[in-house]
Amino acid sequence: MDSQTLRLRLPCDPNVHVGQQLEQGQTLADPPDRRQACVVSPMRSRVIGMLHVPDQGYDLTLEPLSPTTSTQLKASPPGSEKLTDWVDCLRRLGQWGVYDGQVGLLVQLEAALLRKPRELICIACDSFAPYPCQSSLAMSHPGELALGVDALRLVLGLKQASILVGPSRSVYQTMRIKMNQATRLHRVEPKYPIGHPSVVMRQYSQSRKHLTIDGHPLEHDAVIISAWSAIRLARWLQTGELDLIQPMFIGWPQAHARMHACWVMPGQNIIPLHKRLKAEMNSPRAKLVYGDPLSGKVDQSTDSQGRALGPVVRHDHLLMSLVENPAPIPAQACIACGWCTEVCPTSLQPAGLFEMIVEEPENHIINDELLWCIDCGLCSHVCPSAIPLAQSFRQHVKQHLKVLVQ
Ligand code: SF4
Ligand code: SF4
Repeated sequence: MDSQTLRLRLPCDPNVHVGQQLEQGQTLADPPDRRQACVVSPMRSRVIGMLHVPDQGYDLTLEPLSPTTSTQLKASPPGSEKLTDWVDCLRRLGQWGVYDGQVGLLVQLEAALLRKPRELICIACDSFAPYPCQSSLAMSHPGELALGVDALRLVLGLKQASILVGPSRSVYQTMRIKMNQATRLHRVEPKYPIGHPSVVMRQYSQSRKHLTIDGHPLEHDAVIISAWSAIRLARWLQTGELDLIQPMFIGWPQAHARMHACWVMPGQNIIPLHKRLKAEMNSPRAKLVYGDPLSGKVDQSTDSQGRALGPVVRHDHLLMSLVENPAPIPAQACIACGWCTEVCPTSLQPAGLFEMIVEEPENHIINDELLWCIDCGLCSHVCPSAIPLAQSFRQHVKQHLKVLVQ
């Protein structure tokens, strides 16, 4: 397949789903819900650019994947519903992503051999509304999502499983048609960071407990799976081919009303991607932020000796934003407004913690408290004094809790 670029002019907000085959000149129908923005599968082609032209619609630029790019692995799925067979099978395949429940699916299943879970929760809601990273997957593959969750439910020997979806009625109705009685569907609030496992456990699990930063869902008798992992399981069971790539949504809606999105492969070096996106933005001052929209970070990859290899796209990254470098606002004194405490999803007191870090960095209370911090960045985001709260917590965790978070 040539690396030719296909260009589509869309007459309206695009409604393109993961796995959908796109052809040159194709006209796409109105979406059922305007929030279901464009998501295209990297299986057959990937979107490398989507430009909103006011009053005219979207230009969608697609680039077929190189034929040498391996996107699927031929591997026999487990031949039975026995948990030991599943664990053996997944172990043979090596790493199975780390996104599920913060620790990865294999780790959770290994733990389930020792301690039977009471619930299985699939997170198919968007953390970062209006970025439809998970709900688009649910809309695109409702049958596979339901099948993957149900297969895992049977393996874990559970009577029921839960799927969390966002408030969109179209996602809810689409999913409901595909599910059997053993799966419950919950609509959750569109409130950041609702898709985070820690928040999900507190608000939507039977235990109603937080997961700490180093926590394991089975500490609270749950197994957590992402929407993509459930879909991947179902495809694997149906076709004997395991997807090696995880769709990853990239968007920067704040860039002058232009919505831009593309999918990339995990493991891709971030530097050329950054250059390409910058060129498309036509903005030399833009910077790439990824991880999440509020406290985005760039991770450094390391080799086995711990040497830096450069930042790469990781499986657990959901989002990238390309933003203009804002003029830095100097931090000022805390005015005790209490906003940071109010927004913290894990009920910390960021202002107090920050003071402790500055005044007595070795105080052990800080470490105990920071185990609950999920690094969402909300405290920094709302602080009227521009105090770098989340940034300081992240720095402190890196320095003092390295052993715990590795
Ligand atoms: S980053 Fe701030 S708001 Fe988010 S969990 Fe940590 S302390 Fe709370
Ligand atoms: S939001 Fe900022 S100014 Fe307000 S209490 Fe928290 S640290 Fe202080």
